[in-house]
Amino acid sequence: MSIQISLCKDPHFTAAAEVTLETRSVTLRLAGLINEHSDLQKVSDYLFKLEPKAQRLCFDLGGVTDINSSGLRQWIIFIKRLENIGPLQEKGFQIVFTRLGEVFLERANTFPDMLGAKPRIERIEAPFRCPSCSERFGIELRIEELGAEATRPHLPSPKCEKCNTPLEFDEDLNGFFRFLKRICR
Ligand SMILES: [Zn+2]
Repeated sequence: MSIQISLCKDPHFTAAAEVTLETRSVTLRLAGLINEHSDLQKVSDYLFKLEPKAQRLCFDLGGVTDINSSGLRQWIIFIKRLENIGPLQEKGFQIVFTRLGEVFLERANTFPDMLGAKPRIERIEAPFRCPSCSERFGIELRIEELGAEATRPHLPSPKCEKCNTPLEFDEDLNGFFRFLKRICR
């Protein structure tokens, strides 16, 4: 059984937790703009008060639309704090990014600390563009399907929803997938 809790809601930023007691897993869904007003402290306070403590902490950040420089500083403090939730005796404690959007990943490629010390990532959204009609799409990719080689990831061949033309990856391949070099597999 899961419990849904709204932790923070302002016009630009929302944070909600889904707590599954049986597996002691907490999924945090953050959406909107992360800036100096986003109350990440409230989110981490909640997780520290939670008993029993989460064994597995999942982040669904697909809805994060932007993160400014103050938001970025806040975020790095936040993720470092959360890494201390897992009591030392519980070696199984994990932080998993179940979904990362393009904006967050771009920042994390420049500021690797945003993903914490030992990042585990399941799914990301990557930019593709249609060479025929120029429509841009965020395509969800599973990290395990990208293969082990960070510099040459296996990409799928999605087709344009509008005109059925095969889409092309729309960023610098090495730059976009830089984060793959330091994730846990
Ligand atoms: Zn098209």
